[in-house]
Order: sequence, then C-alpha cells, then structure tokens
Amino acid sequence: MSKIKVVLFDIGNVLMLAAHQRTIEDYILRHGIPRDLAEGYFQRPDYAETGKGRLEWHDYCERLRMEWRVSISDDEINSIDASHIYAVDLGALSLVEVLMAKMPVGFVTNTCIPEWERYVQLEPRFASQFKTWRSDIHGHYKADPGVPEDIIDRWIPRHLKVKAGRDEVLFVDDSQGNCKAFSDIGAEVFTYTERQPWLLAAYLKQIGLLP
Ligand SMILES: [Mg+2]
Repeated sequence: MSKIKVVLFDIGNVLMLAAHQRTIEDYILRHGIPRDLAEGYFQRPDYAETGKGRLEWHDYCERLRMEWRVSISDDEINSIDASHIYAVDLGALSLVEVLMAKMPVGFVTNTCIPEWERYVQLEPRFASQFKTWRSDIHGHYKADPGVPEDIIDRWIPRHLKVKAGRDEVLFVDDSQGNCKAFSDIGAEVFTYTERQPWLLAAYLKQIGLLP
C-alpha cells in the first residue's frame, strides 16, 4: 500500500513529446532569422514573462518583429512556437489513465498561450477534464519560491478535491530543478526521462501504485 494520495504530472517532455530545436530551425529556415538570434528563443527573459502571464503574447510578438527586423505575423509566430510540441507520448498517457482510474491526478505546467493551445489540440481532455495548474494563469513558474507549497496546500484541495500532505504527493517532471523544488518541501519526486515511460512504470510498481 503506497502512502501517495495524489500524482502531479508535468506536460512538456513528459506527456507530450517536445523538440525545441525544431522551432529554432523553423525560425531560421522559414523566416531567415539569424541563427544567433533564433538560438536563444526559449531562453529569452521576455519568453518567460509570457509564461508567467506578465507580458501579452501580442506584445511579445511585437518585440520579436522589432528585434529581428522581419515581417512575421502573430499567427506565424504562434504556429512556429507550437511546432516544438509534436505528439502525445502514448506510453506516458496510458500510465496517467491507469492512475486516474484509482486516484486524483493533476498536471502542472510552465506554459504560454501557443504551447497550451497545442496541448489542447493534441489532447482535448486538457480543455477541462484534465485539471491543470498553468504558470501563465498563476503568474509564476512552478519552481518559484513558495509555489510548490501553494500547489500542494491550496491548488490540490481546490481543484482535485482532496487534501494531501506534502509527502503524500508524487511529482513527475523531466526538469531536475522543478523536481528539486518539490523534493525540498517534502514531496516524493520522480525525474522523468523523455520517451522512457517504462522507467516510470517500474518506479510506480516499486512504490506500490501499480500492481
Ligand atoms: Mg517538462
């Protein structure tokens, strides 16, 4: 019998397969953006601002146009940005579904509008059925100070309708930094390796969540 009452899943590089370099190559090849500008796309501080809901996506697109000196529409930027998420990992999804049949499961994602819309397009249950904590709505990234506590102590009871101690929550994410932030407050964590859901399956068996 496992002590875990709730499982929280990251989405990008866990449930959804991601290829960030693909977006960068799209910018370079389709729109002639110099490689040195395009390479830093996902590390831009203003990209993180959109992910924290503090910069409107349109204003972010304006900045890109000014800086890159290219004519590229918001829609084109949306579709290039979304291109880094290219498929659902069906192995990971089947583990989520097995767990959901027996316990509350939630999703915790640092995301921005085009990426989120892509998630919903690839897995329509993200529109309402899959309860998701989104950085762009909450104004912080998940590992920001105080946020893991807030997710476990307040978001879980409100949205997953269960109260769980911090050590009764399993947090699954591919980012070591995110895992450390949750581990530091006492949650169980599993650092996921993209495309290797069987490693998670083995761990879930080991802790008694799967038979
Ligand atoms: Mg991730």
